[in-house]
Amino acid sequence: MPHVLVVEDDPQVRRGLIRTLTDNDIAASSAATGLAGLQAAVETDPDLIVLDLGLPDVTGTELLRIVRAVSQVPIIVATACDEERQIVAVLEAGADDYIVKPFGSEELVARIRAVLRRGRLHGGQRKPRITVGGLVIEPAARTAELDGVSLQLSPREFDVLYYLASRAGDVVSKRELLVEVWRLPYSQNDKTVDVYLSWLRRKLGESAAAPRYLHTVRGVGLRLNEPDE
Ligand code: CA
Repeated sequence: MPHVLVVEDDPQVRRGLIRTLTDNDIAASSAATGLAGLQAAVETDPDLIVLDLGLPDVTGTELLRIVRAVSQVPIIVATACDEERQIVAVLEAGADDYIVKPFGSEELVARIRAVLRRGRLHGGQRKPRITVGGLVIEPAARTAELDGVSLQLSPREFDVLYYLASRAGDVVSKRELLVEVWRLPYSQNDKTVDVYLSWLRRKLGESAAAPRYLHTVRGVGLRLNEPDE
């Protein structure tokens, strides 16, 4: 049974979350402050953390950075705000996913299961090296280089790039990316895909307006292919 740590200061919300998790065969523990959450994360080594961004002692984003400095435990951020800027900030600080309050218990459980499944997949089977033009991706080492220069990618950026490169020449929809990379069936999360694609483009030294590898196929999705130069 997976163990999820809930860090949430509102006692009513906290109790509701714990009930939802235990009803779904997920062991749950909780902490009401950021510092208690950090201590619990270190001492109980949970399989995943659900982290409220509005905590009384430290901001959730600060706590996220502190936890990330010591642990790769998957983290889902719960936020009352669906502003793109804040979502980008928490994803950049190392969150694996986010969920906007108020959310349904089914959605939360689905996201938890998806994040846990993805974690297991990463430890799984051996995948082949992929070369597309000057892009070389080594899934075993989880490294990528472009024209001989190593790319500094976050784990999720790497997954997106690897998936697109493994389908090089094909048009891939954002929905497919959500299902295959994020393992999420939720189409309303298109924004997440867009955010990661813009980061990837920046790291590949290109833009949506002047693409080399990542081409937008309007209304359908996108395609990674060798630049024709
Ligand atoms: Ca709160």
